[in-house]
Amino acid sequence: MFDSVIPAIKDSETEMIALRHHLHMNPELSLEEFKTADLVASLLETWGYNVTREIGKTGVVGSLKKGNSVKSIGLRADMDALPIHETNSFPWSSTVPGKMHACGHDGHTTILLAAAKYIASPDCLFDGHVHVIFQPAEEAYGGADLMVKEGLFERFPCDCIFALHNMPGIPAGKFGFYSGNFMASADTVKITINGYGGHGAYPNRTVDPVVTGAAVVMALQSIVSRNVPPGETAVVSVGTFHSGIASNVIPDHASLELTVRAMKQEIRDLLISRIKELADFTARSYGASCVVEVYDSYPVLINTDEYTRFAQELAIKTFGADAVIDEIHPVNGSEDFAFMLQKRPGSYFLLGNGDKEAKGGCMVHNPGYDFNDEIISVGASFFARLVESHCR
Ligand SMILES: [Zn+2]
Ligand SMILES: [Zn+2]
Repeated sequence: MFDSVIPAIKDSETEMIALRHHLHMNPELSLEEFKTADLVASLLETWGYNVTREIGKTGVVGSLKKGNSVKSIGLRADMDALPIHETNSFPWSSTVPGKMHACGHDGHTTILLAAAKYIASPDCLFDGHVHVIFQPAEEAYGGADLMVKEGLFERFPCDCIFALHNMPGIPAGKFGFYSGNFMASADTVKITINGYGGHGAYPNRTVDPVVTGAAVVMALQSIVSRNVPPGETAVVSVGTFHSGIASNVIPDHASLELTVRAMKQEIRDLLISRIKELADFTARSYGASCVVEVYDSYPVLINTDEYTRFAQELAIKTFGADAVIDEIHPVNGSEDFAFMLQKRPGSYFLLGNGDKEAKGGCMVHNPGYDFNDEIISVGASFFARLVESHCR
């Protein structure tokens, strides 16, 4: 992979690593990416892009046209950091206590900037429109959805869109592609059970939300085992169950929070409707009532066959067959690029961050994680090749 990097991108490597370190030292949480967005926008302006700021609050789009073709392509990176306190002691470690780029979005932003710089140079030959999309709030609030709702693809039409995520555990610079339903939908469901509190010694004069809640938790276990067809992927996990403050007091309320994951929209719909039914009927059978709220939803991420094949073949052509690993499986994690893929065809793929614990192998969202700078030029070269291959 590394010897097939575009020479002009290799020449910018030192500058881009310094940029990545700057972003890593100055992490900003979801929808607070003000300085990051400003830096991205001003660099794009310097390189000659038409820049639109503040789409999806802190999102930035850079647009560039060469030639007369109507072909168009969108490349997307995410910019936000996480509320995690970094435990690394690199010279470029986070300078903000309690915030760090623990998912490598500093690296994704840098990869797309490195590609954007080359794409704007006379060395890059393409014919059409390129839109580089820097989105906020991937980790929370669904920044991709915010941009889509503000007319991203009406304002910046794209034939196809691409994005990548670094992946610890995959050798540095190797690509992973998957056609079809690749990442799970994620819904958070909150169930509030309303009972009638009283003295623990007189339970007959109460409606106990703790017992009701326990019955709801057990009832929910039957959804995946009894309602979902065997072979389909589905998860219903109760992550929190809060109620009561004293051993001799039966409380009024209990609250549960669930994460719900599925690989198909119809399974997602089934899970949500069964959760509502089971919570409601179970609560009523105990004389209680309940309120079920569904929020923070990310849809299933679906890669289109056409553009996944296009990207995979291009990766093999550019970097060799060895550069693409075949054992990629769908994952139960979620990703808000799914909102963009609901609107435009395209592909979301993985780029290995390294498989050695000392370099790139530490999993994302861990306080000891770091993005591997060696893969910046590989990712940037591939983004540039996607542009040159599609827009011609
Ligand atoms: Zn993340
Ligand atoms: Zn991420």
